[in-house]
Amino acid sequence: MYGVFIMGTYGRKIIKDLDINELIKLLNKALADEWLAYYQYWIGAQVIEGPMSSAVIVELMEHAGDEFRHAGMLVNRIVKLGGTPLLKPEDWYKETNCGYEAPEDFLVMKILEQNIKGEQCAITTYQKLVDLTSGKDIITYNMVLEILEDEIEHEDDLEVLLENIKML
Ligand code: FE
Ligand code: FE
Ligand code: MG
Repeated sequence: MYGVFIMGTYGRKIIKDLDINELIKLLNKALADEWLAYYQYWIGAQVIEGPMSSAVIVELMEHAGDEFRHAGMLVNRIVKLGGTPLLKPEDWYKETNCGYEAPEDFLVMKILEQNIKGEQCAITTYQKLVDLTSGKDIITYNMVLEILEDEIEHEDDLEVLLENIKML
């Protein structure tokens, strides 16, 4: 890192009572989660079978796109904070909070349940980041709050789909 993308001196000064290295570490762990979530959604959408699977595929692909976008937001902030984003896919497994559940059972209900579990873990992760940055780093706070809102919507969307399928 040559530092040209790091925010200005004063921008850094307004971050108070926060260990920036610890924050960078937690943002990198969230980055690992986002890549694994992206792939879990994306590969799930390719193999899924069963009732309403075409509607579910649309939702899974939309969520995959959101997780990919979240990964980009996290990397941008990590770099601005002067950190180095995870550079190797092998680090995703080492740093993840939420892990990865391979969609080995292709049935739509099973895939939905796995992804709901992932979203619940993501909500916990971002809730903690919101609490950590609140009143201390407003830029990171706004970003993790925005991501938290998306994860809450993701969980809700998947739960509604699962309920609809169960009513068939
Ligand atoms: Fe996400
Ligand atoms: Fe999500
Ligand atoms: Mg959705």
